[in-house]
Amino acid sequence: MRIVYTAASVIDAQLVLDKLHSAGIESIMTGQQLVGAIGELPANLGPAVQIIDNEDFLLARSIIEDYEECLQESGENWICENCSEPQQGNFHQCWNCGQMKIDPRAETPEIK
Ligand SMILES: [Zn+2]
Repeated sequence: MRIVYTAASVIDAQLVLDKLHSAGIESIMTGQQLVGAIGELPANLGPAVQIIDNEDFLLARSIIEDYEECLQESGENWICENCSEPQQGNFHQCWNCGQMKIDPRAETPEIK
């Protein structure tokens, strides 16, 4: 067992977990039960993702690095065009109604 990722939120941890699972890496989320008690605990006790087999560490880290890069590229929060729900920047699809994010860059392609 080894921690490969310390998440900002349970949703964040779950996204990483899904990516590791789809790559066939056995992994679990830990610490999510503490989230409800924030205020009584140090801030660094948020959810974390742990791999079962330490041999998967390098592969897991490379998947997580890709994920983090992806977060930085699309970090701005957005509002769903369909149902007006606020969305986190790392979602490409509305969690509420399934509407895809409309990328402003896609509508005005830069011609080089
Ligand atoms: Zn929506």
